Amino acid sequence: MQNVTVVGAGTMGNGIAHVFAMNGYQVHLVDIKQDYLDRALATITKNLDRQVKKEIITEDQKKETLDHITMTTDLESTLSNADLVVEAASENEDIKKDLFRTFDAKTGPDCILASNTSSISITKIGAVTGRADKVIGMHFFNPVPVMKLVEIIRGHETSDTVYKTIHELAEKLGKTPVEVQDYPGFVSNRVLMPMINEAIYALMEGVATVEDIDTVMKLGMAHPMGPLTLADFIGLDVCLDIMNVLYEGIGDPKYRPCPLLKKMVAAGHLGRKSGRGFYDYSQS
Ligand code: NAD
Repeated sequence: MQNVTVVGAGTMGNGIAHVFAMNGYQVHLVDIKQDYLDRALATITKNLDRQVKKEIITEDQKKETLDHITMTTDLESTLSNADLVVEAASENEDIKKDLFRTFDAKTGPDCILASNTSSISITKIGAVTGRADKVIGMHFFNPVPVMKLVEIIRGHETSDTVYKTIHELAEKLGKTPVEVQDYPGFVSNRVLMPMINEAIYALMEGVATVEDIDTVMKLGMAHPMGPLTLADFIGLDVCLDIMNVLYEGIGDPKYRPCPLLKKMVAAGHLGRKSGRGFYDYSQS
């Protein structure tokens, strides 16, 4: 495996391109607008500079990494030579299905098609292609160059050979892969989001203040960040979307999104990105 097309150059896509390129793969990074690609290149360069400063890589390795990345808005031009496509486009089922139809039509028959989706079913994505056995989830974590975990999600049809290839690939990238079956929220969000949701219920019911709920989880459970701080960081709209995926996908009322979470999203208090969530970021 040598040529990797990464589709979507946002928060996750630029990190995924960075990690593949740093490990010697030839990467084509694709987005719909040149502006987004320019921004991704600036981010990758800044993150590589940080790694040079911390002596994780040398100045030469930084240069080699950048030389391994080509940016384009022309997706189809990258697909005929791709050995692997990693899709990290916006979290929207229709966008992803359209992209996977294109990947299926334009890549060679052996190309593996991976998605970095946080919550959409890999089985559903695989079903729009003629090669569901070669469709797999490769769920990286933000920031990708730093975070070690990759959840590898096996769709209903994903073959053992493709799973093994992607597991070994994740290890070559210096990551720790875990094998996960395709159920809503995989493992990460199925465990994390109900905890955040419960913290919001505790706040709504007046059990404790925002700060005290976070302090309990930081000092009592050794979490690096309290659940409400983390929710602000992730984005309350994203938290609500994932709770809805769990609620609808599993059908158990224990996953119902907290009414306070719904109300805050309706009010536009989305966390850091909107300047206000459980905390106020207007001065930062
Ligand atoms: P983002 O909004 O930062 O970036 C998405 C990018 O995809 C945008 O630049 C957008 O222009 C591009 N895009 C949309 N449609 C496209 C198309 N048809 N072709 C090419 N590019 C297209 O989003 P993100 O946070 O990087 O998330 C990307 C994926 O990764 C989502 O599936 C998300 O669920 C998943 N994910 C996100 C995180 C996170 O912490 N942000 C963590 C793990 C997984």
